[in-house]
Amino acid sequence: MNSSSSTPSPVIAIHGGAGTLSRSNISPEQEAAYHAALAEILRAGQALLAQGGSALDAVSLAVDMLEDNPLFNAGHGAVFTSAETHELDAAVMDGRDLRAGAVACVGRIKRPLRAARAVMEHSEHVLMAGAGAEAFAAAQGLELVDPAYFSTEFRRAQLKRAQAAAVTVLDHDGGGNDERPLDEGRKFGTVGAVALDAQGNLAAATSTGGMTNKRPGRVGDSPLIGAGTYADNRTAAVSCTGSGEMFIRASAAFDVCARMAYGGLSLQDAAEQVVMQALPAIDGRGGLIAVDARGHVSLPFNTEGMYRGQMRVGDAEPFTAIFR
Ligand code: ASP
Repeated sequence: MNSSSSTPSPVIAIHGGAGTLSRSNISPEQEAAYHAALAEILRAGQALLAQGGSALDAVSLAVDMLEDNPLFNAGHGAVFTSAETHELDAAVMDGRDLRAGAVACVGRIKRPLRAARAVMEHSEHVLMAGAGAEAFAAAQGLELVDPAYFSTEFRRAQLKRAQAAAVTVLDHDGGGNDERPLDEGRKFGTVGAVALDAQGNLAAATSTGGMTNKRPGRVGDSPLIGAGTYADNRTAAVSCTGSGEMFIRASAAFDVCARMAYGGLSLQDAAEQVVMQALPAIDGRGGLIAVDARGHVSLPFNTEGMYRGQMRVGDAEPFTAIFR
Protein backbone atom coordinates (compact mmCIF):
# COMPACT_ATOMS: atom_id res chain seq x y z
CA MET A 1 0.00 0.00 0.00
CA ASN A 2 1.11 3.58 -0.59
CA SER A 3 2.10 4.84 2.81
CA SER A 4 1.91 8.44 1.67
CA SER A 5 -1.62 8.45 0.34
CA SER A 6 -4.96 7.06 1.29
CA THR A 7 -5.36 5.42 -2.13
CA PRO A 8 -3.79 1.98 -2.12
CA SER A 9 -1.82 0.84 -5.15
CA PRO A 10 -3.57 -1.70 -7.31
CA VAL A 11 -2.34 -5.20 -6.50
CA ILE A 12 -2.76 -8.75 -7.78
CA ALA A 13 -2.12 -12.04 -5.97
CA ILE A 14 -2.23 -15.54 -7.48
CA HIS A 15 -2.00 -19.16 -6.35
CA GLY A 16 -1.30 -22.43 -8.12
CA GLY A 17 -2.35 -24.86 -5.41
CA ALA A 18 -1.24 -25.93 -1.94
CA GLY A 19 -0.02 -29.24 -0.59
CA THR A 20 2.71 -31.45 0.77
CA LEU A 21 6.32 -30.86 -0.04
CA SER A 22 8.74 -33.37 -1.34
CA ARG A 23 11.71 -31.12 -1.13
CA SER A 24 14.14 -33.89 -1.82
CA ASN A 25 12.67 -34.17 -5.28
CA ILE A 26 13.14 -30.57 -6.23
CA SER A 27 15.60 -29.82 -8.88
CA PRO A 28 16.65 -26.20 -9.05
CA GLU A 29 15.34 -26.15 -12.63
CA GLN A 30 11.89 -27.31 -11.58
CA GLU A 31 11.66 -24.81 -8.79
CA ALA A 32 12.82 -22.06 -11.13
CA ALA A 33 10.17 -23.04 -13.69
CA TYR A 34 7.41 -22.52 -11.13
CA HIS A 35 8.81 -19.20 -9.98
CA ALA A 36 9.18 -18.05 -13.58
CA ALA A 37 5.60 -19.05 -14.44
CA LEU A 38 4.19 -17.25 -11.41
CA ALA A 39 6.33 -14.16 -12.07
CA GLU A 40 5.30 -13.93 -15.73
CA ILE A 41 1.62 -14.09 -14.81
CA LEU A 42 2.01 -11.51 -12.04
CA ARG A 43 3.79 -9.14 -14.39
CA ALA A 44 0.97 -9.44 -16.92
CA GLY A 45 -1.62 -8.76 -14.24
CA GLN A 46 0.34 -5.82 -12.85
CA ALA A 47 0.71 -4.28 -16.32
CA LEU A 48 -3.02 -4.53 -16.90
CA LEU A 49 -3.76 -2.88 -13.55
CA ALA A 50 -1.13 -0.19 -14.17
CA GLN A 51 -2.92 0.77 -17.38
CA GLY A 52 -6.10 1.34 -15.40
CA GLY A 53 -7.54 -2.12 -16.13
CA SER A 54 -10.18 -3.54 -13.82
CA ALA A 55 -9.63 -6.08 -11.09
CA LEU A 56 -12.08 -8.32 -12.94
CA ASP A 57 -9.98 -8.22 -16.11
CA ALA A 58 -6.76 -8.75 -14.13
CA VAL A 59 -7.97 -11.92 -12.38
CA SER A 60 -9.45 -13.19 -15.64
CA LEU A 61 -6.14 -12.71 -17.45
CA ALA A 62 -4.14 -14.35 -14.66
CA VAL A 63 -6.40 -17.41 -14.50
CA ASP A 64 -6.38 -17.71 -18.32
CA MET A 65 -2.60 -17.93 -18.17
CA LEU A 66 -2.62 -20.37 -15.25
CA GLU A 67 -5.16 -22.61 -17.05
CA ASP A 68 -2.99 -22.71 -20.17
CA ASN A 69 0.13 -23.70 -18.22
CA PRO A 70 0.42 -27.51 -17.73
CA LEU A 71 2.40 -27.01 -14.50
CA PHE A 72 -0.94 -26.25 -12.82
CA ASN A 73 -4.05 -28.41 -12.39
CA ALA A 74 -6.55 -26.37 -14.36
CA GLY A 75 -7.32 -26.37 -18.06
CA HIS A 76 -4.48 -28.16 -19.92
CA GLY A 77 -2.82 -30.40 -17.34
CA ALA A 78 -5.97 -30.97 -15.28
CA VAL A 79 -6.20 -34.07 -13.10
CA PHE A 80 -8.24 -37.18 -13.99
CA THR A 81 -11.43 -38.48 -12.40
CA SER A 82 -11.67 -42.14 -11.41
CA ALA A 83 -13.23 -42.77 -14.85
CA GLU A 84 -10.15 -41.26 -16.55
CA THR A 85 -12.12 -38.22 -17.66
CA HIS A 86 -11.68 -34.52 -16.85
CA GLU A 87 -14.32 -32.47 -15.07
CA LEU A 88 -13.38 -28.84 -14.60
CA ASP A 89 -14.84 -26.25 -12.24
CA ALA A 90 -14.37 -22.45 -12.28
CA ALA A 91 -15.86 -19.29 -10.80
CA VAL A 92 -15.44 -15.53 -10.93
CA MET A 93 -16.89 -12.80 -8.72
CA ASP A 94 -16.98 -9.02 -9.04
CA GLY A 95 -16.74 -7.26 -5.68
CA ARG A 96 -18.44 -4.11 -7.01
CA ASP A 97 -21.92 -5.54 -7.11
CA LEU A 98 -21.58 -9.16 -5.97
CA ARG A 99 -22.20 -10.42 -9.49
CA ALA A 100 -20.82 -13.92 -9.95
CA GLY A 101 -20.60 -16.69 -12.54
CA ALA A 102 -19.45 -20.29 -12.38
CA VAL A 103 -19.31 -23.56 -14.29
CA ALA A 104 -18.98 -27.06 -12.85
CA CYS A 105 -18.27 -30.51 -14.27
CA VAL A 106 -17.37 -29.26 -17.73
CA GLY A 107 -15.11 -31.40 -19.91
CA ARG A 108 -14.84 -29.64 -23.25
CA ILE A 109 -14.50 -25.91 -22.56
CA LYS A 110 -10.89 -24.93 -23.24
CA ARG A 111 -10.90 -22.04 -20.78
CA PRO A 112 -13.45 -22.72 -18.02
CA LEU A 113 -12.90 -19.33 -16.36
CA ARG A 114 -14.04 -17.55 -19.52
CA ALA A 115 -17.19 -19.67 -19.44
CA ALA A 116 -17.76 -18.69 -15.80
CA ARG A 117 -17.43 -15.05 -16.77
CA ALA A 118 -19.88 -15.54 -19.66
CA VAL A 119 -22.39 -17.03 -17.22
CA MET A 120 -21.99 -13.90 -15.08
CA GLU A 121 -22.19 -11.41 -17.93
CA HIS A 122 -24.52 -13.05 -20.42
CA SER A 123 -27.00 -15.17 -18.48
CA GLU A 124 -29.41 -14.68 -15.63
CA HIS A 125 -27.75 -17.56 -13.75
CA VAL A 126 -24.81 -17.90 -11.40
CA LEU A 127 -23.81 -21.58 -11.75
CA MET A 128 -24.20 -23.85 -14.78
CA ALA A 129 -23.02 -27.46 -14.96
CA GLY A 130 -22.19 -30.21 -17.43
CA ALA A 131 -23.54 -30.42 -20.97
CA GLY A 132 -25.80 -27.38 -20.54
CA ALA A 133 -22.85 -25.23 -19.49
CA GLU A 134 -20.85 -26.48 -22.48
CA ALA A 135 -23.69 -25.68 -24.89
CA PHE A 136 -23.99 -22.22 -23.35
CA ALA A 137 -20.24 -21.62 -23.69
CA ALA A 138 -20.31 -22.71 -27.34
CA ALA A 139 -23.23 -20.37 -28.02
CA GLN A 140 -21.15 -17.59 -26.46
CA GLY A 141 -18.41 -18.26 -28.99
CA LEU A 142 -16.02 -19.88 -26.52
CA GLU A 143 -13.67 -22.58 -27.78
CA LEU A 144 -14.56 -26.22 -27.15
CA VAL A 145 -11.83 -28.84 -27.37
CA ASP A 146 -11.55 -32.60 -27.48
CA PRO A 147 -11.23 -33.73 -23.86
CA ALA A 148 -7.81 -35.17 -24.71
CA TYR A 149 -6.58 -31.55 -24.81
CA PHE A 150 -6.60 -31.52 -21.00
CA SER A 151 -4.72 -34.82 -20.60
CA THR A 152 -1.06 -35.13 -19.83
CA GLU A 153 0.89 -38.32 -19.22
CA PHE A 154 2.01 -36.91 -15.90
CA ARG A 155 -1.57 -36.65 -14.67
CA ARG A 156 -2.42 -40.14 -15.95
CA ALA A 157 0.45 -41.60 -13.95
CA GLN A 158 -0.76 -39.63 -10.93
CA LEU A 159 -4.22 -41.19 -11.32
CA LYS A 160 -2.74 -44.69 -11.49
CA ARG A 161 -0.82 -44.07 -8.27
CA ALA A 162 -3.92 -42.74 -6.55
CA GLN A 163 -5.98 -45.72 -7.73
CA ALA A 164 -3.33 -48.16 -6.56
CA ALA A 165 -3.51 -46.51 -3.15
CA ALA A 166 -7.33 -46.26 -3.40
CA VAL A 167 -7.43 -42.61 -2.41
CA THR A 168 -8.77 -39.34 -3.73
CA VAL A 169 -5.97 -36.83 -3.67
CA LEU A 170 -5.31 -33.19 -4.08
CA ASP A 171 -3.32 -32.37 -7.12
CA HIS A 172 -0.09 -31.43 -5.32
CA ASP A 173 -0.62 -34.01 -2.66
CA GLY A 174 -0.22 -37.74 -2.47
CA GLY A 175 2.68 -39.82 -3.30
CA GLY A 176 4.86 -40.32 -6.25
CA ASN A 177 8.38 -39.81 -7.12
CA ASP A 178 7.86 -36.85 -9.34
CA GLU A 179 10.15 -33.92 -9.66
CA ARG A 180 7.82 -31.14 -8.70
CA PRO A 181 8.49 -29.04 -5.64
CA LEU A 182 5.15 -29.91 -4.10
CA ASP A 183 4.37 -33.61 -4.01
CA GLU A 184 1.89 -33.78 -6.88
CA GLY A 185 0.02 -36.61 -5.23
CA ARG A 186 -0.70 -34.42 -2.25
CA LYS A 187 -1.01 -30.96 -3.64
CA PHE A 188 -4.26 -29.13 -4.13
CA GLY A 189 -3.97 -28.01 -7.69
CA THR A 190 -6.49 -25.32 -8.10
CA VAL A 191 -5.39 -21.97 -9.51
CA GLY A 192 -6.75 -18.59 -8.55
CA ALA A 193 -6.29 -14.85 -8.55
CA VAL A 194 -7.52 -11.88 -6.52
CA ALA A 195 -7.01 -8.21 -7.32
CA LEU A 196 -7.67 -4.62 -6.26
CA ASP A 197 -7.80 -2.04 -9.05
CA ALA A 198 -7.24 1.73 -9.19
CA GLN A 199 -10.98 2.33 -8.80
CA GLY A 200 -10.94 0.47 -5.51
CA ASN A 201 -12.81 -2.55 -6.88
CA LEU A 202 -12.06 -6.13 -5.87
CA ALA A 203 -12.45 -9.36 -7.87
CA ALA A 204 -11.67 -13.06 -7.39
CA ALA A 205 -11.37 -16.00 -9.81
CA THR A 206 -10.68 -19.71 -9.29
CA SER A 207 -10.30 -22.63 -11.73
CA THR A 208 -9.53 -26.30 -11.15
CA GLY A 209 -9.48 -29.84 -12.42
CA GLY A 210 -10.55 -30.86 -8.92
CA MET A 211 -9.01 -33.78 -7.10
CA THR A 212 -7.27 -36.77 -8.68
CA ASN A 213 -9.44 -39.91 -8.70
CA LYS A 214 -12.59 -38.00 -7.69
CA ARG A 215 -15.90 -39.60 -8.60
CA PRO A 216 -17.47 -38.40 -11.84
CA GLY A 217 -20.06 -35.80 -10.91
CA ARG A 218 -18.21 -34.61 -7.81
CA VAL A 219 -18.11 -30.81 -7.51
CA GLY A 220 -15.57 -29.10 -5.26
CA ASP A 221 -15.49 -25.71 -3.56
CA SER A 222 -13.92 -23.74 -6.42
CA PRO A 223 -17.14 -22.99 -8.40
CA LEU A 224 -19.29 -22.52 -5.30
CA ILE A 225 -19.66 -18.84 -4.46
CA GLY A 226 -18.76 -18.38 -0.80
CA ALA A 227 -16.88 -21.69 -0.54
CA GLY A 228 -13.84 -21.44 -2.84
CA THR A 229 -14.43 -18.01 -4.35
CA TYR A 230 -15.84 -14.73 -3.03
CA ALA A 231 -15.42 -10.97 -3.56
CA ASP A 232 -17.09 -8.00 -1.91
CA ASN A 233 -15.67 -4.47 -2.12
CA ARG A 234 -16.72 -3.89 1.49
CA THR A 235 -14.42 -6.62 2.78
CA ALA A 236 -12.18 -8.77 0.57
CA ALA A 237 -11.65 -10.89 -2.52
CA VAL A 238 -10.75 -14.52 -1.75
CA SER A 239 -9.71 -17.58 -3.80
CA CYS A 240 -9.13 -20.92 -2.05
CA THR A 241 -7.23 -24.15 -2.71
CA GLY A 242 -7.44 -27.32 -0.69
CA SER A 243 -9.65 -30.24 0.30
CA GLY A 244 -12.78 -28.90 -1.32
CA GLU A 245 -15.33 -30.77 0.77
CA MET A 246 -14.11 -29.07 3.95
CA PHE A 247 -13.93 -25.65 2.28
CA ILE A 248 -17.57 -26.12 1.26
CA ARG A 249 -18.60 -27.13 4.78
CA ALA A 250 -16.76 -24.14 6.26
CA SER A 251 -18.00 -21.63 3.63
CA ALA A 252 -14.34 -20.71 3.74
CA ALA A 253 -14.14 -17.78 1.31
CA PHE A 254 -17.26 -16.11 2.65
CA ASP A 255 -16.16 -16.77 6.22
CA VAL A 256 -13.09 -14.57 5.71
CA CYS A 257 -15.35 -11.70 4.59
CA ALA A 258 -17.90 -12.38 7.33
CA ARG A 259 -15.27 -12.23 10.08
CA MET A 260 -14.20 -8.84 8.73
CA ALA A 261 -17.75 -7.52 8.34
CA TYR A 262 -19.31 -8.80 11.55
CA GLY A 263 -16.28 -9.05 13.81
CA GLY A 264 -14.29 -6.09 12.59
CA LEU A 265 -11.26 -8.28 12.05
CA SER A 266 -8.38 -7.24 9.82
CA LEU A 267 -7.94 -9.21 6.59
CA GLN A 268 -4.87 -10.86 8.06
CA ASP A 269 -6.64 -12.02 11.23
CA ALA A 270 -9.76 -13.17 9.40
CA ALA A 271 -7.81 -15.18 6.82
CA GLU A 272 -5.52 -16.70 9.46
CA GLN A 273 -8.47 -17.76 11.63
CA VAL A 274 -10.19 -19.50 8.74
CA VAL A 275 -7.09 -21.31 7.48
CA MET A 276 -5.41 -22.07 10.82
CA GLN A 277 -8.48 -22.70 13.03
CA ALA A 278 -11.83 -23.18 11.28
CA LEU A 279 -10.56 -25.47 8.51
CA PRO A 280 -8.19 -27.65 10.59
CA ALA A 281 -11.07 -28.18 13.08
CA ILE A 282 -12.78 -30.26 10.38
CA ASP A 283 -9.56 -31.64 8.90
CA GLY A 284 -9.55 -29.10 6.10
CA ARG A 285 -6.18 -28.69 4.43
CA GLY A 286 -5.03 -26.03 2.01
CA GLY A 287 -4.84 -22.28 1.84
CA LEU A 288 -6.19 -19.13 0.26
CA ILE A 289 -5.18 -15.81 -1.21
CA ALA A 290 -7.02 -12.64 -0.27
CA VAL A 291 -6.84 -8.89 -0.81
CA ASP A 292 -8.92 -6.19 0.86
CA ALA A 293 -10.07 -2.77 -0.34
CA ARG A 294 -7.11 -1.09 1.36
CA GLY A 295 -4.64 -3.20 -0.54
CA HIS A 296 -3.66 -5.57 2.25
CA VAL A 297 -2.77 -9.04 0.97
CA SER A 298 -2.89 -12.30 2.94
CA LEU A 299 -1.63 -15.67 1.64
CA PRO A 300 -2.09 -18.19 4.50
CA PHE A 301 -1.91 -21.99 4.12
CA ASN A 302 -1.85 -24.90 6.56
CA THR A 303 0.01 -27.31 4.28
CA GLU A 304 3.74 -27.41 3.76
CA GLY A 305 3.62 -25.23 0.70
CA MET A 306 1.50 -23.23 -1.69
CA TYR A 307 2.49 -21.86 -5.06
CA ARG A 308 1.79 -18.18 -4.62
CA GLY A 309 2.80 -14.65 -5.45
CA GLN A 310 1.79 -11.02 -5.46
CA MET A 311 2.74 -7.81 -7.22
CA ARG A 312 1.65 -4.21 -6.75
CA VAL A 313 1.63 -1.45 -9.31
CA GLY A 314 4.94 0.25 -8.63
CA ASP A 315 6.80 -2.93 -7.66
CA ALA A 316 9.84 -3.59 -9.81
CA GLU A 317 9.77 -7.33 -9.14
CA PRO A 318 7.00 -9.76 -8.21
CA PHE A 319 7.09 -11.73 -4.96
CA THR A 320 6.81 -15.48 -5.60
CA ALA A 321 7.10 -18.39 -3.17
CA ILE A 322 6.40 -22.11 -2.83
CA PHE A 323 7.43 -23.17 0.65
CA ARG A 324 6.87 -21.59 4.04
N1 ASP B 1 -10.23 -27.23 -3.93
C1 ASP B 1 -10.13 -28.06 -5.11
C2 ASP B 1 -11.27 -29.03 -5.14
O1 ASP B 1 -11.60 -29.56 -4.09
C3 ASP B 1 -8.88 -28.83 -5.18
C4 ASP B 1 -7.64 -28.02 -5.15
O2 ASP B 1 -7.60 -26.94 -4.55
O3 ASP B 1 -6.66 -28.49 -5.70
O4 ASP B 1 -11.77 -29.32 -6.20
